[in-house]
Amino acid sequence: MRSVTLLGATGSIGTSTLDILKRHPDEFKLHGAAAFTSVDKMVKIVEEFHPQRVAMFDTSSALKLKEALAAKSLCCEVLDGPLGVEEVAGDGASDIVVDAIVGAAGLKPVMAAVKTGCIIALANKEALVMSGKIFFEQVKKYEAKVLPVDSEHSAIFQCLPYEVQENLGYCDLKAANVNKILLTGSGGPFRNTPVEDLSFVNAKLAIAHPVWSMGPKISVDSATMMNKGLEFIEARYLFNATDEDIQVVIHPQSVIHSMVSYTDGAVLAQLGQPDMRIPIAVALGFPSRIHSGVSPLDFTKVSSLTFMQPDYTRYPCLKLAMQSSKSGQCATTSLNAANEVAVDAFLNDRIGYLDIAKVVDKVLQTIEEKTLSDIDEVLEVDSRARQIAKQSIGAL
Ligand code: NAD
Ligand code: MG
Repeated sequence: MRSVTLLGATGSIGTSTLDILKRHPDEFKLHGAAAFTSVDKMVKIVEEFHPQRVAMFDTSSALKLKEALAAKSLCCEVLDGPLGVEEVAGDGASDIVVDAIVGAAGLKPVMAAVKTGCIIALANKEALVMSGKIFFEQVKKYEAKVLPVDSEHSAIFQCLPYEVQENLGYCDLKAANVNKILLTGSGGPFRNTPVEDLSFVNAKLAIAHPVWSMGPKISVDSATMMNKGLEFIEARYLFNATDEDIQVVIHPQSVIHSMVSYTDGAVLAQLGQPDMRIPIAVALGFPSRIHSGVSPLDFTKVSSLTFMQPDYTRYPCLKLAMQSSKSGQCATTSLNAANEVAVDAFLNDRIGYLDIAKVVDKVLQTIEEKTLSDIDEVLEVDSRARQIAKQSIGAL
């Protein structure tokens, strides 16, 4: 029986993770869970999975949760605030911590988990984009182990040899005879929209992803392809790759979830339904395969697989992310922070779709690169970038 802590338990990845846990009651036990404000969902989680402790980032939600649990005579410790979330993440009682918090908010909790030397099943790509090198230094120091949950990174992971899988962050792609990592993306809902019409895109249209069902922030990131940009940076850190080792390829059907091309000319791909329960099951079960509840692909129903190069005029955010990857950790942290602020403003109808890239660009031009040596320095850059992003939104 392995013990699991689930950060971001009430979200899209959190819900899919719980679905897997439910299918394997003799193999996994939910020890802890954390969320932002979703009290009703957390009550249901406690009722069904009986975790020992849960945390709500929002203090008033924690109070409401305590009352709701008491009314149902459910026994569970409730912690609150950022420190409560970190405490649940880093109490060392779980074999596996799943980080499915969205955005920079997932960074401190996952770092607390790393210090316990557990397995980190990482969905929260933003944490890695911000902290990359420092994150993996801590992983090594505390002998933690990272397993990717992001579907593309899980696909790449599955196409790599065991020595690489066992050594994420420090693996040697050249020694494994890897020629290229092919990072695929669907191109989002506006792949065929005339570029001049993109200024009319609103939040409702942007979060209606053609293939994947996800939380609102990552849905907008998928439309702008900032998601692929963040994943490009995520892949660099996970697979110890250079920018040149990774190629982004648009593959609208999302049947292939990414590929690895080897020096002998062989290309390995991982295929499957677009259902996040697959990569979650891969991470939870590793190195074994476990049931995920997802039906296998029916190849007679897959009509065609097409591929194309991304067009950077359509996807300026992807270009900005790749440029920031070349600049360094300060740039990738600023990119992520600016994007979070801009996407939030877009989701609340305060800026237009095309303004997202403008805000990110402005922030990247303003913040100078410097070496970041610890998480506090990363968070300082994050908050400066957020300030500049807000000013630039005000000036639009
Ligand atoms: P979501 O918005 O559906 O859920 C986010 C979760 O994080 C919620 O449970 C929310 O309560 C929690 N949360 C937010 N702020 C918090 C805080 N400060 N403290 C504690 N909990 C907090 O998002 P999602 O789509 O599930 O995505 C989660 C992460 O996984 C993101 O980083 C995303 O990029 C990544 N991811 C998601 C998918 C997907 O299919 N949804 C795929 C790949 C990667
Ligand atoms: Mg992904």
